[in-house]
Amino acid sequence: MRKAHALLEAVDNTFVRTTLDGTGRETIFLPGSSLRGMLRSQSERIARTLSFDRAKPIGKPYPELHEYNYDAYTNYVAACDPLAMEGDETEPDETPYAAIACTNYMKSVMPEWLKQQNRQRAEERSEFLYQKITECSCPACLLFGNTYLAGRLKVNDAYSIESKGVDPRGETRQRLDFVAINRFTGGVRDSAKFEAHPHFHTTNQKLRFRANLTLTDLNLPKEGWMLGWLAYLLRDLYLGDLRLGLGKAKGLGKACGKLVKIRVGSLQPDLDWLNLSEGWQEETEQPGLLRVFALDLNGSSTFEHEKQLLNRYAAQYDELVDKYSRVRAGQER
Ligand SMILES: [Zn+2]
Repeated sequence: MRKAHALLEAVDNTFVRTTLDGTGRETIFLPGSSLRGMLRSQSERIARTLSFDRAKPIGKPYPELHEYNYDAYTNYVAACDPLAMEGDETEPDETPYAAIACTNYMKSVMPEWLKQQNRQRAEERSEFLYQKITECSCPACLLFGNTYLAGRLKVNDAYSIESKGVDPRGETRQRLDFVAINRFTGGVRDSAKFEAHPHFHTTNQKLRFRANLTLTDLNLPKEGWMLGWLAYLLRDLYLGDLRLGLGKAKGLGKACGKLVKIRVGSLQPDLDWLNLSEGWQEETEQPGLLRVFALDLNGSSTFEHEKQLLNRYAAQYDELVDKYSRVRAGQER
């Protein structure tokens, strides 16, 4: 079983291949789910870092790590740990990550909710459940989703921007051996060894992909914090702080990103309230949307001319992190 798991991991983590239209040649792409995972874990890191400040003991500007209030912290950290179960311990010497996954919490209260729901009139039922689920989902789950809630951020598969695609074997044809580690003992798992084909480059030519991130059903200004969080996230991606895929400990998978274009679509004819600055161009023919505006950044990514707007959204995110607290049984609003 263990061996199969390790092998699955290996297959999971090698570049995913597809065939180029027309030529039949193989190329690689980055699955949207992997990119989404990378973005989610970085956004959790951002939330945990910002939330951690609230656990500071009062009157101590430079506290030791063990002096922080970890119990309070897990109640208001603005991102759950998607894997943490009830009873997970917090390591006092490490940043505490164990805020129970919203999914795991909801699994435990769902039978009770369903019981309550049965007593209501049919039209109120789904509304009731949706409200409970959104109340009990942390900001990270609202943005990226959990078992009970679709996330607002959609991430598409990213394809190479080179029309010839990318040779799956890599430029140098080099292979790397990996050994699967048993996370419990720290030793090597029984014969769990696998190979990978990383793309080392002989020149400065990096692999370049184009990805699309879509934030759906955004309700501004109430949900401006989602844009603020995304701005923090994209800044980290721009700075090359993010790692993707296998072999992170070996220094592989460094990901760097640039904003090429931003598009805003609306179902309303009036978009004045968005306060878009000059430079945004209206696009025509948008199925399903009344108006669409686009800003071409030409890869500059400094976002200088929308700095004020972004700062406002970032401030909304900071405020959310400062006020957020987990809604759990007995304390529901
Ligand atoms: Zn959550």
